[in-house]
Amino acid sequence: MLCAPLTLPTCEYKRREPQQEVLHQVLLVHLETFFANIGAESQYLPKHVEKELRDFLKCGVLAHGFVRMRCNECGKSLVVGFSYKGRGFCPSCTGRRMADTSERLVDDTFPENAPVRQWVLSLPIQIRYRLAHDGKLLSDQGLNWRLQM
Ligand SMILES: [Zn+2]
Ligand SMILES: [Zn+2]
Repeated sequence: MLCAPLTLPTCEYKRREPQQEVLHQVLLVHLETFFANIGAESQYLPKHVEKELRDFLKCGVLAHGFVRMRCNECGKSLVVGFSYKGRGFCPSCTGRRMADTSERLVDDTFPENAPVRQWVLSLPIQIRYRLAHDGKLLSDQGLNWRLQM
């Protein structure tokens, strides 16, 4: 268990309780049946998709790891479950990823004071599927795009 000092008033933070969310409850009950049905029908589910779904059931759940934080103002403490940093399914992880990406774009990529509300990156369809399944290539391309902007 860790104790992390914060500068924000921690006592005002309300932690997410994934076990109370409908999506978590549905997957907790039906995920193994879903996997079994896919196997029984000789269908294939990519390993990374199975891992993403299994990790979703751990994300933010205190039993799978947490950090204890204490408010510097009043001394109250709370625990926050570890995130599994999902990339494609968990609404919490993808929401945080979206916020982090937009912050990085505003701070490091877009020109200062540029009136940007929304941006869209469109790729030629011939390379979309290859990039979707090749994280290293996508990462290399991301670097190149940043350099060219
Ligand atoms: Zn406080
Ligand atoms: Zn998550």
